[in-house]
Amino acid sequence: MITRLSELFVRTLREDPADAEVPSHRWLVRAGYVRRVAPGIYSWLPLGLRVLHKVEQIVREEMDAIGAQEVRFPALLPREPYEATNRWTEYGPNLLRLTDRKGADMLLGPTHEEMFTLMVKDLYSSYKDLPLSLYQIQTKYRDEARPRAGLLRGREFVMKDSYSFDIDEAGLQASYDRHREAYQRIFDRLGLEYVIVSATSGAMGGSASEEFLAVAEIGEDTFVRSAGGYAANVEAVKRPLAPQQDATSVPAAHVEDTPDTPTIETLVALSNERYPRADRAWKAADTLKNVLFMLKHADGTRTPLAVGLPGDREVDAKRLEAAVEPAEVEPFGDADFDQYPQLVKGYIGPGAALGLDADGNGIRYLTDPDVVPGTRWITGANEAGRHVYDLVCGRDFASDGVLDVAEIREGDPAPDGSGPLALARGIEMGHIFQLGRKYADALGLKVLDPNGKLVTVTMGSYGVGVSRAVAAVAESTCDDKGLAWPRNVAPFDVHIVATGKDEAALTFANRLAHELDEAGVSVLLDDRKASPGVKFADAELLGMPTSVVVGRTLADGVVEVRDRASGAKEELGVDVVANHVVALVKG
Ligand code: ATP
Ligand code: MG
Repeated sequence: MITRLSELFVRTLREDPADAEVPSHRWLVRAGYVRRVAPGIYSWLPLGLRVLHKVEQIVREEMDAIGAQEVRFPALLPREPYEATNRWTEYGPNLLRLTDRKGADMLLGPTHEEMFTLMVKDLYSSYKDLPLSLYQIQTKYRDEARPRAGLLRGREFVMKDSYSFDIDEAGLQASYDRHREAYQRIFDRLGLEYVIVSATSGAMGGSASEEFLAVAEIGEDTFVRSAGGYAANVEAVKRPLAPQQDATSVPAAHVEDTPDTPTIETLVALSNERYPRADRAWKAADTLKNVLFMLKHADGTRTPLAVGLPGDREVDAKRLEAAVEPAEVEPFGDADFDQYPQLVKGYIGPGAALGLDADGNGIRYLTDPDVVPGTRWITGANEAGRHVYDLVCGRDFASDGVLDVAEIREGDPAPDGSGPLALARGIEMGHIFQLGRKYADALGLKVLDPNGKLVTVTMGSYGVGVSRAVAAVAESTCDDKGLAWPRNVAPFDVHIVATGKDEAALTFANRLAHELDEAGVSVLLDDRKASPGVKFADAELLGMPTSVVVGRTLADGVVEVRDRASGAKEELGVDVVANHVVALVKG
């Protein structure tokens, strides 16, 4: 197929869109691949749609190759199945809800576990029907709080979601492994540099889960990896409990005046000056910081949570969010402090106000894995301007449990002992979960086993962000001139640029286009009456992997072949250029 730029529905822009935060977003809009309709909602123009279709096709081929069967569910769904699994409520404000003319509650599907479970329940009833994997490539809706970076975080987006149905754990594991391998092939074919990290399963419920993250500076996910092969999403890192300490020689706890110590640094400085420690100087990690939050539950109720952690670490908001899901985290505001007069802002400590031995104030107090029996702390005395010293965990206070939500730092040890952790950022491209029986239980999906006994089916669910992948590939390949597609997903294989005023260039360009087309190469032909400068700039902006410049040198019997990614240029004779390009494209 030959597409003429003079006819293609595209308009390239010389200015960045105002809302573009990341390069892929900027270039996809400027090159006329997508257009914004509303925050997080985009229209696909011909060039963009061609890339989307190519990504879809790669995903489809790899899903078909593991024996998954393609289906398509509606995006507009009734409330009841989501009510049965409690997700109508649990999904929170991310769920786009609407009402039909009869007043019935509907939703736009954010993910389709319920529908697939019910469909299989409807049609299948025996272990003989299993294993089964079904998938769809379909538009999803999530009313994201922060739609961002164009296609990377949309409110409407394309996802491939698949679901596996097995009779037992071994079956689920096999289905999961097959998906994992298919995902590796998909992301390899997309040319993405990615890591597979263990992940929290979030609102999905269930246990084993891994994410495929494309390594990218602009990614929203922070992950850690060790030289020894450990890799995990930061939300999933479980720091081990610190070893218990012998505190028999620690003096009894004592409250001291600590004026003007609003920060950990000032508290440490004052402590070293006024209350020095015999064996070494106090440091931030000797202080116990207690941070308050409000948890908002699905039913709308709010409950306070206090987190105690060493003063040299901050609470990581994402780790906290993941740990308390489906509850949502809200700040503990002044109005909340008014409800708990025993909490003295800036001087909160376990004991009178928090902890198991508290006065029944109903505040759940959870502590960091470093806060273990025998550890000795400086912490708030629940009195303005005063702190308590030598407060020993287990001796002087206790918590309601462990909560590991402190930030993970570069150099922290990997939980599996495989060395120090390095932090990096990535874009979540895919997610595979062993759901287990959560949805099958809630919706009653059972089949007869070989002994004629009814057993609940065990499920997996697997997602690939298809539209997000378009942006992620763009992000990982673009440069300061525009897009630079890898061959597997480029809208066209080759971009022919005809320059010069005489007809000869256009005539040869047309002939070359036809020759390539006949060899199965898709061609974008720039036949516009524009200056060479404009055409070259557009060729770089639009990002086809190879372009052929037909112009000045044609009189000498040569044309120029340019490689978009490397910028390499090569002169080739007019009689050999077609074969050369075919060889490049067919690899
Ligand atoms: P994220 O953490 O990025 O919000 P998620 O964990 O909510 O994603 P899943 O429910 O696992 O996403 O969905 C499967 C896949 O769908 C994700 O791995 C991602 O590639 C894609 N995806 C999810 N949300 C969006 C979105 N708002 N825009 C584009 N793609 C998305
Ligand atoms: Mg996910």
